[in-house]
Amino acid sequence: MSEKQKYLVTSALPYANGPLHIGHVAGAYLPADVFVRFQRLQANDVLYVCGSDEHGAPISIKAEAEGVTPRDIVDRYHDSIKKSFDGLMINFDNFSGTARAQHSKLSQEFFTNLLERGFIIQKTSKQWFDQEQNRFLADRYVEGECPHCGADGARGDQCDACGKLIDAVELKNPISKISGSTPILKSTTHWYLELQKFEDELKEWLESKKYWKENVHNFISNFLENGLIERAITRDIDWGVPVPLENAEGKVLYVWFDAPIGYISSTKEWAEKIGEPEKWKDYWLDKKTKLIHFIGKDNIIFHTIFFPSFLMEQPEDYILPYDVPANEFLNLEGQKMSTSRNWTVWVNDFLADFDGEYLRYYLAANAPENKDSDFYWKDFQTQTNNDLANVLGNLANRVFAFSNKSFEGKINQPAELSELSAKTLNSAKLLIDEIGGNYSEYKVRKASKNIIEMARLGNKYFDETKPWAEVKAGNMKEAEETLYVCSEILRLISIAFSPILPTKMLKLREMLGLGKDFTWESLDNVIGNITLNNIAPLFKKVEDAEIQKQLDRLEASKKALEVKELEHKDHIDFEDFLKVEMRVGKILKAEKIKKANKLLKVEVDFGSEKRVIVAGIAKAYKPEELIGKKVAMVLNLKPRKVMGVESQAMILAASDEDGKLSVLTLDRELPAGSEIG
Ligand SMILES: [Zn+2]
Repeated sequence: MSEKQKYLVTSALPYANGPLHIGHVAGAYLPADVFVRFQRLQANDVLYVCGSDEHGAPISIKAEAEGVTPRDIVDRYHDSIKKSFDGLMINFDNFSGTARAQHSKLSQEFFTNLLERGFIIQKTSKQWFDQEQNRFLADRYVEGECPHCGADGARGDQCDACGKLIDAVELKNPISKISGSTPILKSTTHWYLELQKFEDELKEWLESKKYWKENVHNFISNFLENGLIERAITRDIDWGVPVPLENAEGKVLYVWFDAPIGYISSTKEWAEKIGEPEKWKDYWLDKKTKLIHFIGKDNIIFHTIFFPSFLMEQPEDYILPYDVPANEFLNLEGQKMSTSRNWTVWVNDFLADFDGEYLRYYLAANAPENKDSDFYWKDFQTQTNNDLANVLGNLANRVFAFSNKSFEGKINQPAELSELSAKTLNSAKLLIDEIGGNYSEYKVRKASKNIIEMARLGNKYFDETKPWAEVKAGNMKEAEETLYVCSEILRLISIAFSPILPTKMLKLREMLGLGKDFTWESLDNVIGNITLNNIAPLFKKVEDAEIQKQLDRLEASKKALEVKELEHKDHIDFEDFLKVEMRVGKILKAEKIKKANKLLKVEVDFGSEKRVIVAGIAKAYKPEELIGKKVAMVLNLKPRKVMGVESQAMILAASDEDGKLSVLTLDRELPAGSEIG
């Protein structure tokens, strides 16, 4: 066996301002976890680290909106996100957080080293300033039109529509996210990383990365073609890693400066936890380590330009990323996912209703590897039911049921195999080679297809050899051979599928009477004689009602958005409000007015006096329905004549968009004439 390869695998740090959704999982976490599990099966040395990204404007915005501290927000979502990962069996060696002291210290060291080596300059420039709030608007505190593509809602640091980085002052029609006012430009001092000084070195390094995914390589080449310029790496906000300089009060490091350093601080934390504090160096400072960043396409720049630049100019000899297999996006029901519109599937919600491994399978089989892909609930049901229950589950069920019925659950290895059996197992082995190749090239989608193909192969072979007919004819040896070959295929699947379905495959192995310890190399063994154990169905079908529940939930999100924003009127003084005389009136009489199909003439009792009102409620109420109702009314509007009748007050009614009316009645019994206000 060749020497163990050392891997340091990272997944994009999830942002701690909200729960985890399936789009995140499809892009940066499941592909990484599958890759890590596969490399471990290959007996390679793998360290897998992550942590929550806990700084930046969105977290302080959320904290301000809720009236809590940024730390409260960070703790809440760190725990929620960790719970999602656990439920999906995404197993990091360490899951840290960037608001921890060790991380601050390391990020400040990175900054200081770059400054001392002459890669950071101090510049005074204009920044957006909110005059109402008396503060600078960093990054997401300001939004406007993208200067590159013209899209609305581009943030102060990046445009979601075109993915380009933005210098906030370039935004057109900027709006403060805090007050909604139009900000002004005001001078402030910041520190800039002179990325242009890294240009040659970066270009040379990227030249050696021709094996990268096409989407990633193209993106970076385009970016470099436009030339690099200095980028501000500090911000005027109070939540973040403080800039380690005396003249930098109130300034913190830009979240995208400190976040990738989180991979290193998480590794250091891991090393301390296992009691070998220097062990992190075995990964970060050893040229033989392959550093692989799993991310979504929106983070490519930070992992291929920013972070490598920081790493190049540190006193320690850090390794640079070996590969950055960025994924495209996952859409939901044909639409772009949006957390603000609640158009997503939150992982913790999914886990409350379904088995986490069903999500692992569906996202693996539909991974957005080379282009955006879609999550459709109906398709989720069809694909998991077909592939898992009807194909793989069926193969296991029929083999196990038949073995129990005709062979008391014991299957022995035949002395020799028929031509068809040998050919079938050979085809399975060829698929195994393909699966291994696909896993190592991050092609989880293809690997999933190969595995289901292998289960299909088993079903086809079972149908062709007809063991039930052989038993009937007394040919027990032939029937047993079929069961043996199918069990061998199930054994191969239990290994090959384990990176995607870790616990289900352990269950399958248990049923086959196999142990929990296995490697990719053990695929070359044979199953031998086995005794079946604790047979139970591997997969439960997803029912229509379960899917309908999810579709209803999405429909509700859509409906909630359709409610139009309220159009507010100008503020009025309280004194002005007091000028309106409103009282409870009891309706004594109501009748239609001739030639006016919307109007009713209503006689109202206010206790000490009675008044006549003309009200436009004839389409909503029959006259007799109104008699006896106590309704809110305005008494001091100037009387006016309508259809020859003088209206001496106004009945208050609510109406919806379609003009459907409801008079405002009392929630509790009160006498006519009671004052309202
Ligand atoms: Zn844009």
